Amino acid sequence: MKRKHLQTVIFGPQGSGKGTQGALLAERFDVPLIGAGDLFRAEIVQKSTLGNLVNQYVTQGLLAPDELVNAVMARQLKKVNVTKGFVLDGYPRNVEQAMHLDRILKVNLVIQLKIEDKEVLRRLGGRLQCMKCKNVYHEIDAPPSRKGVCTLCGNKLERRADDTEEIIKQRLKAYHYITAPLAGYYRQKGVLLAVNGDQAIPYVFEDIVKKIAKLGFLP
Ligand SMILES: [Zn+2]
Repeated sequence: MKRKHLQTVIFGPQGSGKGTQGALLAERFDVPLIGAGDLFRAEIVQKSTLGNLVNQYVTQGLLAPDELVNAVMARQLKKVNVTKGFVLDGYPRNVEQAMHLDRILKVNLVIQLKIEDKEVLRRLGGRLQCMKCKNVYHEIDAPPSRKGVCTLCGNKLERRADDTEEIIKQRLKAYHYITAPLAGYYRQKGVLLAVNGDQAIPYVFEDIVKKIAKLGFLP
């Protein structure tokens, strides 16, 4: 089988570990990890017309419309060297954006991290953060050595304001409604790979690497 370049989109709900898996994959295959959030910040920092528009949405805590998101991505993606491949995280977020991405970049693999809602609630709901050194813990999965206290700096641990059950459930609902349909879109194109994200990080990664090797993606 011919060895293929990794031209990958990774998506999944918050708490699925897609950021971590994306980073591991990019490192293993020595390709750039493209975070949509970083590209947005880059556009805002440049204070371009687009950047200023995006900033207006961001500062009001609003979701930027597809046209604007697509325009920023088109501009910023041109600046990334993707000749050896890439891992893209955080874009596209819906089918409309996926159709736009198809016009600017060839994607040959889309990894969907699947995870039960109740596991997302468990993961995010049990998350604790040190507000001083920003280290993150989990009540059960990664507890601090002393309950409620940061192991690194001794500061008090807190739950993040947006880690409430209600907010997590709202975000999951939005994910299922807006982003999850990407699976159908990419399955039809024959590039979808669904992976069980309901396991520990190293197992998920091993699973991904094994499955994509069979498809001709080798580091
Ligand atoms: Zn700390």
